[in-house]
Amino acid sequence: MKALLPRIEISLSQIRHNARILSELHGKKGISLMGVTKATLGDPAIAKAMIQGGVKFIADSRLENIKKMKKAGILTQFVLLRTALSQAEAVVRNVDISLNTELKTVRELSRYAQIYHRIHQIIIMVEMGDLREGILPCDLSQFIKEVLGLPNIKIIGIGCNLACYGGIKPDTKKMGELSTLADTIEKEFPINLEIISGGNSANYEWSESTPQVGRINNLRLGESILLGCETLNRKAIPGLYTSAFKLIAEAIESKEKPSVPFGEICQNAFGVVPTFRDRGIHRRVIIALGRQDILVSGLSPNNDLEILGSSSDHVVLDSHNNACEVGSEVKFNLDYGGLLSAMTSPFITKQFIGSSYIVAA
Ligand SMILES: *Cc1c(COP(=O)(O)O)cnc(C)c1O
Repeated sequence: MKALLPRIEISLSQIRHNARILSELHGKKGISLMGVTKATLGDPAIAKAMIQGGVKFIADSRLENIKKMKKAGILTQFVLLRTALSQAEAVVRNVDISLNTELKTVRELSRYAQIYHRIHQIIIMVEMGDLREGILPCDLSQFIKEVLGLPNIKIIGIGCNLACYGGIKPDTKKMGELSTLADTIEKEFPINLEIISGGNSANYEWSESTPQVGRINNLRLGESILLGCETLNRKAIPGLYTSAFKLIAEAIESKEKPSVPFGEICQNAFGVVPTFRDRGIHRRVIIALGRQDILVSGLSPNNDLEILGSSSDHVVLDSHNNACEVGSEVKFNLDYGGLLSAMTSPFITKQFIGSSYIVAA
């Protein structure tokens, strides 16, 4: 069978390995993991690999992805990372746990949870400075008081999310604050916070370097499991695979040409007047992949190739005088943005490679 192009090659055994190493590493400190699947469009095979690797929950920001994984027979506790008021009914019906910050939404969840005779579990997200989602610590007490009055809703924990919008580092101080908040809440209210979810792949450095993790007993990891790196500095995590995903596309033109366009320069297809560095005559390779498939800045060529630019359907590369014949395959590594866009592109085929069996532990 001829392999399809463009395609993304996915190594499930490498993802499973990454999940296992991270689960063991964090498990030693009493921290459980939620495997975050949103960058993979909720791919059931990837979720399964994460579960085999030891994650205790699967978390996703999209209900559609969670529904897909459930339909495919993935059995685990599902966590919704982003809860919308308008989806309250579907949230109650499809997920076990949702992250929440708005009373209006939790009231709606409570209403549907009563209708469907379910207890819906929530984790309350606290604003710790990154300024994406979260209730300010000063408003937490009032929020909890109100939620405790809502039938069929169970507060099972609190959490925070850093290094996402504001780039704020999850350090000992921030994690200490979250721990203290957990203690304060339990003193004030007759509840037990089972889950204190300290953050995402940006928490790696903190969890590695901190002997005392305090009350933090959970992290929600996507990128570090999938791409093997932490996300404060995008450093590879020792012992993890960093190329479980590879993008492969086809060279459709390969010619020696000048490196500077000739004629009068105006706007390009994206409204930019481009500038060029003269590299003399060189070999230029065009691959059949473009901005409607992928975030081109998220690609890094494997060989000695260099991306010069792109349009909707073409990426132009300097081959650095490698042959790179027409019809040959060009391989790229992906960063998170590249992965996200590749996995959501209807034009890119997904192909699982290597053994789908568990490598002996
Ligand atoms: C996406 C997301 C995560 C996972 O982030 P990574 O950097 O991929 O580990 C964790 N928590 C929330 C709330 C998210 O939206």
